[in-house]
Amino acid sequence: MTSTEKLTAELRGRAAALGFDSFGIAAADARPDLPDKLRQALDAGWHGDMDWMAETAQRRGSPRAMWPDARSVILLGVNYGPETDPLALLGEKSHGAISVYARNRDYHEIIKGKLKELAGLLARRSSAEVKVFVDTAPLMEKPLAEAAGLGWQGKHTVLVSREFGSWLFLGAILTSAELPVDKPHKVSCGSCTKCLDICPTAAFPAPYQLDSRRCLAYLTVEHKGPIPKEFRGPMGNRIYGCDDCLAVCPWNKFASASRELKLRGRPELERLTLAELVQLDDVGFRELFAGSPVKRIGLGRFLRNVLIAIGNSQNHALVPLVEQRLRDESALVRGAAVWALRRLAPERAAQLRLAFSAVESDEAVQAEWTEELA
Ligand code: SF4
Repeated sequence: MTSTEKLTAELRGRAAALGFDSFGIAAADARPDLPDKLRQALDAGWHGDMDWMAETAQRRGSPRAMWPDARSVILLGVNYGPETDPLALLGEKSHGAISVYARNRDYHEIIKGKLKELAGLLARRSSAEVKVFVDTAPLMEKPLAEAAGLGWQGKHTVLVSREFGSWLFLGAILTSAELPVDKPHKVSCGSCTKCLDICPTAAFPAPYQLDSRRCLAYLTVEHKGPIPKEFRGPMGNRIYGCDDCLAVCPWNKFASASRELKLRGRPELERLTLAELVQLDDVGFRELFAGSPVKRIGLGRFLRNVLIAIGNSQNHALVPLVEQRLRDESALVRGAAVWALRRLAPERAAQLRLAFSAVESDEAVQAEWTEELA
């Protein structure tokens, strides 16, 4: 065994001890196809208003464009497969469905410390330079994870693993060390199209391509303005993210058998009622979602989502709570409240329209009172 092979074996063992479920290594220049793919997606505008994607495109195309000394990238995965079927909650219209990844502590925080520890070991043993990434940096982890043999990018563009299905958090260590690389994983979707077929908003223009502007995971989390009307009905009760394409993947069935359950969601975030959520104030919101990625979108965007879900709930008992939000200081929240009221109780909305329109200063909210619902 060469010294580099010994080092790699030690890193692999340490990664497992730290709780990583998957480990693989790719050359930093393993995916020369990425700059073109990225450019095509940006030219098509699929990134929506995530301007940072266009701004960092040159660096994102290749690890070596970001850091010329990079030679290898170590990819690590942590399994977060849910205990129960996340699609079951979509039928409970008076509850809010929060995406599985957000029911835990923020995974950036969980993984970053472990990655740093592993990177520290590599730096000490090899004197190579190291940099650590968890989803926040301009590094395209999914195609690199495919190159490192962790799985393949499925037709829904998310990484699919033979062991863990679609439920892997990814992290990466970029290094100037030349490490022995793993074999890339071959794409194993076959003729399956389940993830494309289930998407409630037809966000996949073609297999392996995602138009974020139509994706509920993007619209409910990244998008800052009002939810475009055509997507409000399809949102159903999804108030943070969307798991449909992940949850339906047949490869998930192997996940529950093999996983060691390193990351569990907080059960109390699985069954929150829309009635309690729409009454949250800023302090209550921060307390409830302390440590969860949900907190990052802020109360205004969160209430926007909750009110859309209420508008889809057919639960008339929620009307008085919606009316309280018609006076919210945030125009984003007021606009969503108007839509929810008009969907749930059109006659009551017609009674209130004149009085509220007379004092409404925001044009978009004015339009919510009068325009077609969808
Ligand atoms: Fe591939 Fe089917 Fe899984 Fe989609 S649902 S990623 S097509 S195996």
